[in-house]
Amino acid sequence: MGTIDLHLHSKCSDGMLTPSELVDKAFSLGVKIMALTDHDTVSGVREAQGRAKELGIQCIAGLEISARLNDEVHILGYNINLDNPEFQAGIHKLQELRRERNHEIIRKLRAHGIKLKVYDELDGESRGRTHIAKMLYEQGFVHSRAEAFDKYIGRNAPCYQNDVGITLEEAVKLIVSAGGTAVLAHPYRFIRNGELSNFVSRMVDYGLGGIEVYYPNYGKEVRQSIRLVANQHKLIITGGSDYHSEEYGSKIGSTNVILNEHTKNVLGIK
Ligand code: AMP
Ligand code: MN
Ligand code: MN
Ligand code: MN
Repeated sequence: MGTIDLHLHSKCSDGMLTPSELVDKAFSLGVKIMALTDHDTVSGVREAQGRAKELGIQCIAGLEISARLNDEVHILGYNINLDNPEFQAGIHKLQELRRERNHEIIRKLRAHGIKLKVYDELDGESRGRTHIAKMLYEQGFVHSRAEAFDKYIGRNAPCYQNDVGITLEEAVKLIVSAGGTAVLAHPYRFIRNGELSNFVSRMVDYGLGGIEVYYPNYGKEVRQSIRLVANQHKLIITGGSDYHSEEYGSKIGSTNVILNEHTKNVLGIK
């Protein structure tokens, strides 16, 4: 069936490639089924789908919503009706929240003595910490983007600002109301073994339809424990590389994703 990668970022959020370049690269690496899942936006989807069609591969309309809990929880959405007005309003709200959060991070950096010159670009669509890390790097405050996260804006660093996204319930409902399937991304980033089942039960009540099982560094045992929870709740099982660039995320198509029949049916994969 060819290589599958259902978790990919482009320049439309914090990836490095344009949607067309991303599709070209995926194609050259043997990917036959992909999804563009930019943070809090679907603005690259039409371009990606156009290029995928030219190349004869399937590109699913997707996104990755940053939702609010104690910490970041990400919800992937697949097969969304891009024209749905409620969905567009939800995206608009997410963009506003991102802008406010970016300014809060800048405020914290300044209070911390970092006199960062802010590029206008930061008020564009789906800008966030990756773009702030780039500014810190380019203005010589750190030696690498990774250092920007470690030293200033990462989770345990002094200028960290929580995700201020919509609630988990809102995120799932937004995707479902636009005809999409909501999938819990990289579940082990924020939840441990025994807690996953309870957490997923609650999410299923909101309309969760799937869970990401194939993810970089999720070994056999981790995948099996997530798969058990997925099967308990009859959820679809997805996965992908979370590719952003050659520096961040894994290589496109490197996650060895295998889709079962139920998942293929729900996602409309031939
Ligand atoms: P935001 O969505 O604004 O919270 O930014 C989070 C994004 O920053 C993630 O989606 C990653 O792409 C990127 N990121 C997170 N941690 C690191 C890190 N340690 N080094 C480089 N990029 C990171
Ligand atoms: Mn990212
Ligand atoms: Mn994520
Ligand atoms: Mn991602």
